[in-house]
Amino acid sequence: MAWDFSTEPEFEAKLDWIRAFVREEVEPLEVLFPGCEYLPLNDQRRRIVDPLKQRVREQGLWAPHLGPELGGQGFGAVKLTLINEILGRSSWASIVFGTQAPDTGNAEILARFGTEEQKERYLSGLLSGEIFSCFSMTEPQGGSDPRVFTTRAVRDGDQWVLNGRKYFSSNASVASFFIVVAITDPDVPVHAGASTFLVPADTPGLVIEATHHLVGAHQHDPGHSLVRYDDVRVPAEAILGEAGQGFLVAQSRLAGGRIHHAMRSIGVAQRAIDMMARRAKSRFTQGSALADKQLVQSFIAESYAELLSFRLTVLHAAWLIDTAGERAARAEIGACKIMLPQLLKSIGLRAIQVHGAMGLTEQLPLTNMLLGGVALGLADGPTEAHKVNLARLLLKGYEAEDPEWPSEFLDNRIAAARAKYGDRVDPIPAVPT
Ligand SMILES: Cc1cc2nc3c(=O)[nH]c(=O)nc-3n(C[C@H](O)[C@H](O)[C@H](O)COP(=O)(O)OP(=O)(O)OC[C@H]3O[C@@H](n4cnc5c(N)ncnc54)[C@H](O)[C@@H]3O)c2cc1C
Repeated sequence: MAWDFSTEPEFEAKLDWIRAFVREEVEPLEVLFPGCEYLPLNDQRRRIVDPLKQRVREQGLWAPHLGPELGGQGFGAVKLTLINEILGRSSWASIVFGTQAPDTGNAEILARFGTEEQKERYLSGLLSGEIFSCFSMTEPQGGSDPRVFTTRAVRDGDQWVLNGRKYFSSNASVASFFIVVAITDPDVPVHAGASTFLVPADTPGLVIEATHHLVGAHQHDPGHSLVRYDDVRVPAEAILGEAGQGFLVAQSRLAGGRIHHAMRSIGVAQRAIDMMARRAKSRFTQGSALADKQLVQSFIAESYAELLSFRLTVLHAAWLIDTAGERAARAEIGACKIMLPQLLKSIGLRAIQVHGAMGLTEQLPLTNMLLGGVALGLADGPTEAHKVNLARLLLKGYEAEDPEWPSEFLDNRIAAARAKYGDRVDPIPAVPT
Protein backbone atom coordinates (compact mmCIF):
# COMPACT_ATOMS: atom_id res chain seq x y z
CA MET A 1 0.00 0.00 0.00
CA ALA A 2 1.35 3.45 -0.90
CA TRP A 3 2.01 5.77 2.01
CA ASP A 4 -0.03 8.92 1.70
CA PHE A 5 0.20 11.78 4.18
CA SER A 6 -1.37 14.36 1.89
CA THR A 7 -4.26 16.55 3.05
CA GLU A 8 -6.73 18.65 1.09
CA PRO A 9 -6.19 22.42 0.55
CA GLU A 10 -9.07 23.32 2.91
CA PHE A 11 -7.24 21.54 5.71
CA GLU A 12 -3.97 23.25 4.79
CA ALA A 13 -5.82 26.56 5.25
CA LYS A 14 -6.88 25.40 8.74
CA LEU A 15 -3.23 24.64 9.56
CA ASP A 16 -2.25 28.14 8.44
CA TRP A 17 -4.96 29.55 10.74
CA ILE A 18 -3.71 27.43 13.69
CA ARG A 19 -0.09 28.47 13.05
CA ALA A 20 -0.91 32.20 13.14
CA PHE A 21 -3.37 31.83 16.05
CA VAL A 22 -0.91 29.92 18.24
CA ARG A 23 1.93 32.33 17.50
CA GLU A 24 -0.04 35.56 17.91
CA GLU A 25 -2.78 34.74 20.42
CA VAL A 26 -1.66 31.74 22.46
CA GLU A 27 2.12 32.06 22.91
CA PRO A 28 1.72 35.34 24.89
CA LEU A 29 -0.21 33.38 27.57
CA GLU A 30 3.07 31.62 28.45
CA VAL A 31 4.40 34.87 29.93
CA LEU A 32 1.03 36.32 30.97
CA PHE A 33 0.02 33.31 33.08
CA PRO A 34 3.23 31.27 33.50
CA GLY A 35 2.71 27.76 34.83
CA CYS A 36 -1.06 28.31 35.24
CA GLU A 37 -2.16 26.01 32.41
CA TYR A 38 -3.73 23.48 34.77
CA LEU A 39 -5.11 25.85 37.38
CA PRO A 40 -8.90 26.18 37.32
CA LEU A 41 -9.70 29.42 35.46
CA ASN A 42 -10.17 32.44 37.74
CA ASP A 43 -12.06 35.50 36.42
CA GLN A 44 -8.92 37.15 35.10
CA ARG A 45 -7.72 34.14 33.12
CA ARG A 46 -11.24 33.28 32.00
CA ARG A 47 -11.61 36.74 30.41
CA ILE A 48 -8.77 35.90 28.03
CA VAL A 49 -8.83 32.11 27.71
CA ASP A 50 -12.57 31.53 27.19
CA PRO A 51 -12.81 33.78 24.07
CA LEU A 52 -9.74 32.02 22.62
CA LYS A 53 -11.38 28.62 23.20
CA GLN A 54 -14.52 29.97 21.55
CA ARG A 55 -12.58 31.00 18.44
CA VAL A 56 -11.09 27.50 18.26
CA ARG A 57 -14.62 26.03 18.49
CA GLU A 58 -15.86 28.35 15.73
CA GLN A 59 -13.11 27.02 13.48
CA GLY A 60 -14.27 23.45 14.22
CA LEU A 61 -10.92 22.70 15.84
CA TRP A 62 -11.87 22.04 19.48
CA ALA A 63 -10.61 18.66 20.81
CA PRO A 64 -9.29 17.55 17.41
CA HIS A 65 -8.27 14.14 18.79
CA LEU A 66 -11.91 13.15 19.31
CA GLY A 67 -14.43 11.61 16.97
CA PRO A 68 -17.70 13.40 16.14
CA GLU A 69 -19.61 11.32 18.72
CA LEU A 70 -17.60 13.15 21.43
CA GLY A 71 -17.73 16.60 19.89
CA GLY A 72 -14.56 16.44 17.78
CA GLN A 73 -14.19 16.35 14.00
CA GLY A 74 -12.84 12.81 13.63
CA PHE A 75 -9.76 14.15 11.86
CA GLY A 76 -7.80 10.91 12.25
CA ALA A 77 -4.18 10.53 13.28
CA VAL A 78 -2.38 12.06 10.25
CA LYS A 79 -4.29 15.33 10.45
CA LEU A 80 -3.98 15.27 14.24
CA THR A 81 -0.18 15.00 13.81
CA LEU A 82 -0.17 18.09 11.60
CA ILE A 83 -2.28 19.97 14.16
CA ASN A 84 -0.43 18.73 17.26
CA GLU A 85 2.99 19.56 15.87
CA ILE A 86 1.87 23.20 15.79
CA LEU A 87 0.20 23.03 19.22
CA GLY A 88 3.38 21.45 20.66
CA ARG A 89 5.14 24.81 20.27
CA SER A 90 3.27 26.35 23.19
CA SER A 91 2.48 25.05 26.68
CA TRP A 92 -0.91 26.84 26.62
CA ALA A 93 -1.99 25.64 23.17
CA SER A 94 -3.28 22.25 24.30
CA ILE A 95 -5.48 23.96 26.94
CA VAL A 96 -6.91 26.39 24.37
CA PHE A 97 -7.57 23.54 21.90
CA GLY A 98 -8.79 20.99 24.51
CA THR A 99 -6.00 18.48 23.92
CA GLN A 100 -4.10 18.53 27.22
CA ALA A 101 -2.59 15.40 28.77
CA PRO A 102 -3.52 13.48 30.83
CA ASP A 103 -7.14 14.53 30.25
CA THR A 104 -7.18 13.49 26.58
CA GLY A 105 -6.25 9.89 27.44
CA ASN A 106 -8.58 9.84 30.44
CA ALA A 107 -11.45 11.08 28.26
CA GLU A 108 -10.70 8.42 25.67
CA ILE A 109 -10.89 5.54 28.16
CA LEU A 110 -14.05 6.99 29.71
CA ALA A 111 -15.59 7.13 26.26
CA ARG A 112 -14.46 3.61 25.43
CA PHE A 113 -15.05 1.75 28.71
CA GLY A 114 -17.42 4.03 30.68
CA THR A 115 -21.09 3.39 31.37
CA GLU A 116 -23.62 6.02 30.33
CA GLU A 117 -23.78 7.24 33.94
CA GLN A 118 -19.99 7.51 34.21
CA LYS A 119 -19.79 9.44 30.95
CA GLU A 120 -22.51 11.83 32.06
CA ARG A 121 -20.84 12.44 35.41
CA TYR A 122 -17.21 12.84 34.32
CA LEU A 123 -16.86 13.11 30.56
CA SER A 124 -18.76 16.28 29.68
CA GLY A 125 -16.74 18.46 32.10
CA LEU A 126 -13.53 16.93 30.79
CA LEU A 127 -14.47 17.46 27.15
CA SER A 128 -15.50 21.07 27.71
CA GLY A 129 -12.14 21.73 29.40
CA GLU A 130 -13.81 22.85 32.64
CA ILE A 131 -12.32 20.17 34.91
CA PHE A 132 -9.03 18.29 35.14
CA SER A 133 -8.38 14.64 35.94
CA CYS A 134 -5.60 12.43 37.26
CA PHE A 135 -4.40 8.97 36.26
CA SER A 136 -3.00 7.20 39.31
CA MET A 137 -1.05 4.03 38.54
CA THR A 138 2.67 4.30 39.43
CA GLU A 139 3.50 3.34 43.03
CA PRO A 140 6.37 4.52 45.27
CA GLN A 141 8.09 1.12 44.98
CA GLY A 142 8.10 1.22 41.17
CA GLY A 143 6.32 2.18 37.97
CA SER A 144 8.03 0.20 35.21
CA ASP A 145 6.88 -3.19 36.42
CA PRO A 146 3.22 -3.55 37.44
CA ARG A 147 4.09 -6.78 39.27
CA VAL A 148 5.35 -4.66 42.18
CA PHE A 149 2.02 -2.82 42.58
CA THR A 150 0.31 -3.42 45.93
CA THR A 151 -2.62 -0.96 46.01
CA ARG A 152 -5.66 -3.16 46.64
CA ALA A 153 -9.39 -2.80 46.03
CA VAL A 154 -11.57 -5.22 47.99
CA ARG A 155 -15.30 -5.70 47.46
CA ASP A 156 -17.43 -5.01 50.54
CA GLY A 157 -21.13 -5.44 49.80
CA ASP A 158 -22.08 -2.90 47.15
CA GLN A 159 -18.84 -0.95 47.57
CA TRP A 160 -15.16 -1.25 46.72
CA VAL A 161 -12.62 -0.30 49.38
CA LEU A 162 -9.25 0.99 48.12
CA ASN A 163 -6.04 0.96 50.14
CA GLY A 164 -2.51 1.83 49.02
CA ARG A 165 -0.20 4.60 47.87
CA LYS A 166 0.48 5.96 44.41
CA TYR A 167 3.36 8.15 43.30
CA PHE A 168 3.79 10.67 40.49
CA SER A 169 0.05 11.09 40.02
CA SER A 170 0.23 14.15 37.74
CA ASN A 171 -2.24 16.99 38.36
CA ALA A 172 -3.64 15.29 41.49
CA SER A 173 -3.65 18.67 43.23
CA VAL A 174 -6.11 20.17 40.69
CA ALA A 175 -8.01 17.07 39.58
CA SER A 176 -11.77 16.72 40.10
CA PHE A 177 -11.51 12.95 39.89
CA PHE A 178 -8.91 10.20 39.83
CA ILE A 179 -8.64 7.08 37.69
CA VAL A 180 -6.94 4.58 40.00
CA VAL A 181 -5.44 1.22 39.01
CA ALA A 182 -5.72 -1.29 41.89
CA ILE A 183 -5.28 -5.04 42.36
CA THR A 184 -8.64 -6.76 42.72
CA ASP A 185 -7.48 -10.37 42.40
CA PRO A 186 -4.02 -11.01 43.87
CA ASP A 187 -4.21 -14.74 43.00
CA VAL A 188 -3.80 -14.25 39.25
CA PRO A 189 -1.03 -12.49 37.30
CA VAL A 190 -1.31 -8.72 37.67
CA HIS A 191 -2.29 -8.23 34.02
CA ALA A 192 -5.51 -10.13 34.70
CA GLY A 193 -5.96 -9.19 38.36
CA ALA A 194 -6.07 -5.37 38.29
CA SER A 195 -9.05 -3.07 37.80
CA THR A 196 -9.58 0.65 37.24
CA PHE A 197 -11.72 2.86 39.49
CA LEU A 198 -13.20 6.35 39.19
CA VAL A 199 -12.69 8.18 42.47
CA PRO A 200 -13.97 11.76 43.02
CA ALA A 201 -11.26 14.00 44.52
CA ASP A 202 -13.29 14.77 47.65
CA THR A 203 -13.82 11.10 48.60
CA PRO A 204 -12.94 10.58 52.29
CA GLY A 205 -9.64 8.73 52.69
CA LEU A 206 -8.04 10.13 49.52
CA VAL A 207 -5.08 12.08 50.89
CA ILE A 208 -2.41 13.97 48.93
CA GLU A 209 0.64 13.37 51.14
CA ALA A 210 3.11 15.40 49.08
CA THR A 211 3.49 17.04 45.68
CA HIS A 212 6.81 17.03 43.86
CA HIS A 213 7.77 19.22 40.92
CA LEU A 214 10.13 18.66 38.02
CA VAL A 215 13.16 20.92 38.26
CA GLY A 216 12.40 24.14 36.41
CA ALA A 217 8.62 23.78 36.72
CA HIS A 218 6.80 26.97 37.61
CA GLN A 219 5.57 27.35 41.20
CA HIS A 220 1.93 27.18 40.01
CA ASP A 221 2.49 23.91 38.15
CA PRO A 222 0.21 21.29 39.77
CA GLY A 223 3.11 18.82 39.89
CA HIS A 224 3.13 15.10 40.59
CA SER A 225 1.70 13.81 43.85
CA LEU A 226 2.17 11.04 46.34
CA VAL A 227 -1.42 9.98 47.02
CA ARG A 228 -2.62 7.76 49.85
CA TYR A 229 -5.83 5.80 49.48
CA ASP A 230 -6.87 5.06 53.04
CA ASP A 231 -10.03 2.92 53.20
CA VAL A 232 -11.40 4.87 50.25
CA ARG A 233 -14.96 3.65 49.63
CA VAL A 234 -16.57 3.93 46.21
CA PRO A 235 -19.80 2.34 44.96
CA ALA A 236 -19.66 -0.86 42.87
CA GLU A 237 -20.53 1.24 39.80
CA ALA A 238 -17.25 3.19 40.18
CA ILE A 239 -15.33 0.46 38.37
CA LEU A 240 -14.27 1.52 34.85
CA GLY A 241 -14.62 -1.44 32.49
CA GLU A 242 -14.84 -4.96 33.90
CA ALA A 243 -13.07 -6.26 37.02
CA GLY A 244 -9.69 -7.61 35.85
CA GLN A 245 -9.55 -5.26 32.84
CA GLY A 246 -7.33 -2.68 34.58
CA PHE A 247 -4.35 -3.19 32.29
CA LEU A 248 -6.42 -3.34 29.16
CA VAL A 249 -7.85 0.06 30.12
CA ALA A 250 -4.42 1.46 31.07
CA GLN A 251 -2.73 0.20 27.92
CA SER A 252 -5.40 1.57 25.61
CA ARG A 253 -4.95 4.94 27.32
CA LEU A 254 -1.17 4.95 27.17
CA ALA A 255 -0.89 3.97 23.47
CA GLY A 256 -2.84 7.07 22.38
CA GLY A 257 -0.95 9.26 24.86
CA ARG A 258 2.42 8.14 23.54
CA ILE A 259 1.73 9.09 19.94
CA HIS A 260 0.16 12.41 21.02
CA HIS A 261 3.34 13.26 22.96
CA ALA A 262 5.37 12.36 19.85
CA MET A 263 3.25 14.66 17.66
CA ARG A 264 3.62 17.59 20.06
CA SER A 265 7.36 16.98 20.40
CA ILE A 266 7.84 17.70 16.70
CA GLY A 267 6.69 21.26 17.45
CA VAL A 268 8.94 21.55 20.49
CA ALA A 269 11.98 20.43 18.47
CA GLN A 270 11.10 22.73 15.56
CA ARG A 271 10.87 25.69 17.97
CA ALA A 272 14.35 24.85 19.33
CA ILE A 273 15.77 24.64 15.79
CA ASP A 274 14.13 27.97 14.87
CA MET A 275 15.68 29.59 17.93
CA MET A 276 19.08 28.03 17.20
CA ALA A 277 19.09 29.19 13.56
CA ARG A 278 17.99 32.75 14.41
CA ARG A 279 20.64 33.03 17.12
CA ALA A 280 23.34 31.58 14.85
CA LYS A 281 22.62 34.24 12.22
CA SER A 282 22.51 37.05 14.80
CA ARG A 283 25.53 36.39 17.02
CA PHE A 284 29.08 37.26 15.97
CA THR A 285 32.21 35.85 17.51
CA GLN A 286 35.82 35.55 16.35
CA GLY A 287 35.26 37.42 13.13
CA SER A 288 32.08 35.87 11.80
CA ALA A 289 28.47 34.96 12.52
CA LEU A 290 27.95 31.69 14.37
CA ALA A 291 25.97 30.59 11.30
CA ASP A 292 29.21 30.71 9.27
CA LYS A 293 31.06 28.32 11.58
CA GLN A 294 31.05 24.76 10.32
CA LEU A 295 30.60 23.25 13.80
CA VAL A 296 27.43 25.32 14.29
CA GLN A 297 26.25 24.47 10.78
CA SER A 298 26.69 20.83 11.77
CA PHE A 299 24.43 21.42 14.83
CA ILE A 300 21.71 22.86 12.60
CA ALA A 301 21.99 20.26 9.84
CA GLU A 302 22.05 17.30 12.26
CA SER A 303 19.10 18.70 14.20
CA TYR A 304 17.09 19.12 11.01
CA ALA A 305 17.94 15.60 9.82
CA GLU A 306 16.95 14.10 13.19
CA LEU A 307 13.68 16.02 13.26
CA LEU A 308 12.88 15.11 9.66
CA SER A 309 13.35 11.40 10.28
CA PHE A 310 11.33 11.59 13.52
CA ARG A 311 8.52 13.53 11.85
CA LEU A 312 8.28 11.00 9.03
CA THR A 313 8.27 8.15 11.57
CA VAL A 314 5.39 9.80 13.46
CA LEU A 315 3.46 10.53 10.26
CA HIS A 316 3.95 6.96 9.11
CA ALA A 317 2.71 5.61 12.46
CA ALA A 318 -0.27 7.98 12.22
CA TRP A 319 -1.04 6.86 8.68
CA LEU A 320 -0.92 3.24 9.83
CA ILE A 321 -3.31 4.03 12.72
CA ASP A 322 -5.71 5.64 10.24
CA THR A 323 -5.53 2.85 7.68
CA ALA A 324 -5.08 -0.30 9.81
CA GLY A 325 -5.84 0.67 13.42
CA GLU A 326 -3.82 1.34 16.55
CA ARG A 327 -3.04 -2.33 17.20
CA ALA A 328 -1.45 -2.73 13.76
CA ALA A 329 0.76 0.30 14.51
CA ARG A 330 2.15 -0.98 17.84
CA ALA A 331 5.74 -1.33 16.57
CA GLU A 332 5.65 2.08 14.90
CA ILE A 333 4.20 3.79 18.01
CA GLY A 334 6.87 2.02 20.11
CA ALA A 335 9.59 3.33 17.77
CA CYS A 336 8.24 6.90 18.15
CA LYS A 337 8.25 6.55 21.95
CA ILE A 338 11.87 5.36 21.88
CA MET A 339 13.10 8.07 19.48
CA LEU A 340 11.29 10.97 21.14
CA PRO A 341 13.41 11.53 24.31
CA GLN A 342 16.63 11.33 22.30
CA LEU A 343 15.32 13.85 19.77
CA LEU A 344 14.42 16.45 22.40
CA LYS A 345 17.63 15.91 24.35
CA SER A 346 20.01 16.17 21.40
CA ILE A 347 18.32 19.17 19.74
CA GLY A 348 17.70 20.86 23.11
CA LEU A 349 21.36 20.53 24.09
CA ARG A 350 22.59 21.96 20.78
CA ALA A 351 20.15 24.89 21.00
CA ILE A 352 21.36 25.67 24.54
CA GLN A 353 25.00 25.49 23.39
CA VAL A 354 24.42 27.94 20.52
CA HIS A 355 22.73 30.40 22.94
CA GLY A 356 25.70 30.27 25.30
CA ALA A 357 25.12 30.99 29.00
CA MET A 358 21.73 32.59 28.38
CA GLY A 359 20.49 29.25 27.04
CA LEU A 360 20.65 27.84 30.57
CA THR A 361 18.58 30.57 32.20
CA GLU A 362 14.85 30.86 32.83
CA GLN A 363 14.79 33.63 30.20
CA LEU A 364 14.64 31.03 27.44
CA PRO A 365 12.48 27.88 27.25
CA LEU A 366 15.41 25.66 26.25
CA THR A 367 16.21 23.88 29.52
CA ASN A 368 12.52 22.96 29.79
CA MET A 369 12.68 21.44 26.31
CA LEU A 370 15.77 19.46 27.29
CA LEU A 371 14.24 18.26 30.55
CA GLY A 372 11.02 17.51 28.69
CA GLY A 373 13.04 14.95 26.72
CA VAL A 374 14.34 13.40 29.93
CA ALA A 375 10.80 13.34 31.41
CA LEU A 376 9.30 11.75 28.31
CA GLY A 377 11.90 8.99 28.58
CA LEU A 378 10.05 8.02 31.80
CA ALA A 379 6.42 9.17 31.53
CA ASP A 380 4.17 6.49 30.01
CA GLY A 381 6.88 3.93 30.81
CA PRO A 382 10.69 4.17 30.56
CA THR A 383 12.47 3.93 27.22
CA GLU A 384 14.18 0.69 28.26
CA ALA A 385 10.85 -1.07 28.81
CA HIS A 386 9.63 0.15 25.40
CA LYS A 387 12.79 -1.14 23.76
CA VAL A 388 12.25 -4.55 25.37
CA ASN A 389 8.60 -4.63 24.22
CA LEU A 390 9.44 -3.49 20.69
CA ALA A 391 12.24 -6.04 20.35
CA ARG A 392 9.90 -8.83 21.54
CA LEU A 393 7.28 -7.77 19.01
CA LEU A 394 9.79 -7.62 16.15
CA LEU A 395 11.42 -10.94 17.09
CA LYS A 396 8.04 -12.66 16.73
CA GLY A 397 8.43 -12.10 12.98
CA TYR A 398 11.65 -14.15 12.78
CA GLU A 399 12.42 -17.90 12.91
CA ALA A 400 15.55 -19.40 14.46
CA GLU A 401 17.97 -20.89 11.91
CA ASP A 402 20.95 -23.25 11.85
CA PRO A 403 22.94 -22.28 14.97
CA GLU A 404 26.29 -22.94 13.23
CA TRP A 405 25.90 -21.40 9.76
CA PRO A 406 23.62 -18.34 9.46
CA SER A 407 21.45 -18.08 6.34
CA GLU A 408 23.71 -15.35 4.90
CA PHE A 409 26.87 -17.54 5.25
CA LEU A 410 28.61 -17.16 1.89
CA ASP A 411 29.67 -20.78 1.29
CA ASN A 412 26.10 -21.96 1.78
CA ARG A 413 24.76 -19.29 -0.55
CA ILE A 414 27.28 -20.32 -3.22
CA ALA A 415 26.18 -23.95 -2.81
CA ALA A 416 22.54 -22.88 -3.21
CA ALA A 417 23.35 -20.76 -6.30
CA ARG A 418 25.28 -23.72 -7.77
CA ALA A 419 22.31 -26.00 -7.21
CA LYS A 420 20.04 -23.50 -8.99
CA TYR A 421 22.23 -22.29 -11.90
CA GLY A 422 25.19 -24.75 -11.95
CA ASP A 423 24.02 -26.40 -15.18
CA ARG A 424 24.20 -23.03 -17.02
CA VAL A 425 27.17 -21.18 -15.40
CA ASP A 426 30.61 -22.56 -14.64
CA PRO A 427 32.40 -21.67 -12.44
CA ILE A 428 30.26 -20.20 -9.62
CA PRO A 429 30.93 -17.43 -8.57
CA ALA A 430 31.24 -16.38 -12.24
CA VAL A 431 33.83 -13.60 -11.71
CA PRO A 432 35.24 -12.19 -15.00
CA THR A 433 38.96 -12.95 -15.46
C1 LIG B 1 6.62 13.89 33.83
C2 LIG B 1 6.08 12.58 34.34
C3 LIG B 1 4.70 12.43 34.49
C4 LIG B 1 4.19 11.23 35.01
N1 LIG B 1 2.84 11.14 35.20
C5 LIG B 1 2.32 10.01 35.73
C6 LIG B 1 0.92 9.92 36.00
O1 LIG B 1 0.16 10.86 35.75
N2 LIG B 1 0.44 8.78 36.57
C7 LIG B 1 1.24 7.73 36.86
O2 LIG B 1 0.73 6.72 37.33
N3 LIG B 1 2.59 7.78 36.61
C8 LIG B 1 3.14 8.89 36.07
N4 LIG B 1 4.50 8.99 35.84
C9 LIG B 1 5.37 7.91 36.29
C10 LIG B 1 5.94 7.06 35.17
O3 LIG B 1 4.96 6.25 34.62
C11 LIG B 1 7.09 6.23 35.83
O4 LIG B 1 8.11 7.16 36.15
C12 LIG B 1 7.64 5.16 34.94
O5 LIG B 1 6.68 4.14 34.71
C13 LIG B 1 8.90 4.53 35.58
O6 LIG B 1 8.65 4.13 36.89
P1 LIG B 1 9.64 4.62 38.06
O7 LIG B 1 9.82 6.07 37.97
O8 LIG B 1 9.10 4.07 39.34
O9 LIG B 1 11.03 3.94 37.75
P2 LIG B 1 11.46 2.44 38.03
O10 LIG B 1 10.32 1.51 37.74
O11 LIG B 1 12.11 2.37 39.36
O12 LIG B 1 12.54 2.24 36.90
C14 LIG B 1 13.79 2.96 37.00
C15 LIG B 1 14.60 2.71 35.76
O13 LIG B 1 14.86 1.33 35.58
C16 LIG B 1 15.14 1.10 34.22
N5 LIG B 1 14.31 0.00 33.70
C17 LIG B 1 13.00 -0.23 33.93
N6 LIG B 1 12.60 -1.32 33.24
C18 LIG B 1 13.68 -1.79 32.57
C19 LIG B 1 13.92 -2.89 31.70
N7 LIG B 1 12.95 -3.74 31.36
N8 LIG B 1 15.18 -3.05 31.21
C20 LIG B 1 16.19 -2.20 31.55
N9 LIG B 1 16.01 -1.14 32.38
C21 LIG B 1 14.78 -0.95 32.86
C22 LIG B 1 14.78 2.38 33.47
O14 LIG B 1 15.96 3.13 33.22
C23 LIG B 1 13.92 3.10 34.46
O15 LIG B 1 13.89 4.48 34.27
C24 LIG B 1 5.06 10.16 35.31
C25 LIG B 1 6.43 10.31 35.12
C26 LIG B 1 6.95 11.51 34.64
C27 LIG B 1 8.43 11.65 34.47
